[in-house]
Amino acid sequence: MAWYNLNSTDDIVKEFCQERVIDRCIFCGQHEEIKTTMTIYFSEFETNTGPICKRCYHANAKKAVMK
Ligand SMILES: [Zn+2]
Repeated sequence: MAWYNLNSTDDIVKEFCQERVIDRCIFCGQHEEIKTTMTIYFSEFETNTGPICKRCYHANAKKAVMK
């Protein structure tokens, strides 16, 4: 676990978006093709920022629309 260095990787993430990136998805924990970096809000004070795979991104995007 090395979340501490994620805050300074925004520019790198943008570059990654232009090519296939395989990383550990923070939603499902699997090594999948990464769609983007998202922040999960467990509660008002607990958040987790990290890569999210295409599969989980679409699943959560649907949930967001359903609200
Ligand atoms: Zn996932």
